[in-house]
Amino acid sequence: MAATGTIGRVDVYAVRYHHVGPSFALSGGRRASEQDGTIVRVETGDGLVGWGEQCVFTPSFLPGFGPSTRAVLEPLARAVLGADPCRVEAVHARMEAAIRGYAYAKSALDIACWDLFGKATGRRVADLLGGARQEELQLYTGIGISSLDETRERCSDALAAGFRQVQVKVGTSSWRADVDRIEACVEALAGVDRIIVDANGYWSQADAVRVVAAIDHLDVYVEQPCASVAECARVRRSSRRPFVLDEVLTGAREIVEAHASDALDAVRLKLANVGGITPTRRARDVAVALGLPLTVEDSGGGDIVSTAATHVACSTEPKFLLGGYLPSEMVAERIAVGAPRAEQGVARLPAGPGLGIEIDESALGEPLFRVE
Ligand SMILES: [Mg+2]
Repeated sequence: MAATGTIGRVDVYAVRYHHVGPSFALSGGRRASEQDGTIVRVETGDGLVGWGEQCVFTPSFLPGFGPSTRAVLEPLARAVLGADPCRVEAVHARMEAAIRGYAYAKSALDIACWDLFGKATGRRVADLLGGARQEELQLYTGIGISSLDETRERCSDALAAGFRQVQVKVGTSSWRADVDRIEACVEALAGVDRIIVDANGYWSQADAVRVVAAIDHLDVYVEQPCASVAECARVRRSSRRPFVLDEVLTGAREIVEAHASDALDAVRLKLANVGGITPTRRARDVAVALGLPLTVEDSGGGDIVSTAATHVACSTEPKFLLGGYLPSEMVAERIAVGAPRAEQGVARLPAGPGLGIEIDESALGEPLFRVE
């Protein structure tokens, strides 16, 4: 029996998400129509329950693989039994001491602890992070790779849905085809606040240099053009466009190093890539200290992870916030009541304590395993 206020039990669930639209294509022929998600339910000795989630958009994208998330959660859950979930830094340190790496699995447990911290104190996660600086978040939506005609159609769908920021995936058969795609989107999205072209690290340095030269007159952001910081820095030297990095940014130190390499103008933080709310807060604050605007999001997942990212984003100083993203908008399954949704391209921060959402446990089925 766990002491009052300490972690006494962790249940781990697997969920399968299905995309609402057609399968979503990234650079290099990577494609996803389903996602493998993992949800954790953390209960304290006095019966308070917190929820966390991690989801793999596709294992060919960022580090993470559903079965490995769940395997690593078993020893991680053991490592945090008996800990006070409100001492989020101490809980995260326990996970770091138990197993090196596997930031994505740690992210799920870390989110659940912040949910518990909020429920134990009657405060929202955004308020525990220093206070919500905005109650609403302007979202961007992503447009996967498809034919030019389909792409134009999806651009007008995004405008009709009220989005003012659009991310366009690139990294097709050739750099020339990517330039055509970018030009078509800029034309179709005339008047939006921000267009971001994301190669997901696919271009060679030489191809990226050719692309940025060809689009230098267009008002777009370039996201993760090449796989490494060094390549992105060399490409950025030949471009007047602002660069966003995300996949290489796994923490505060990586932001400092990328900034020192002159590789970026803006930061996109993904909870699972950094290891949860606790290290993402640190990375976010470092980005702000360096004067870098940012988003906080996750690459895949449902209501829990989307809500968690919204709390961190909404607690960010408004002038440094580039916007937000809800991966839950891409999937059909709803597992919580009260989670933020995209309404005219805007998400609202939930009002209740913790994450402020109510999990529908019947949607989860039986846990795969329990640690207590
Ligand atoms: Mg990206």
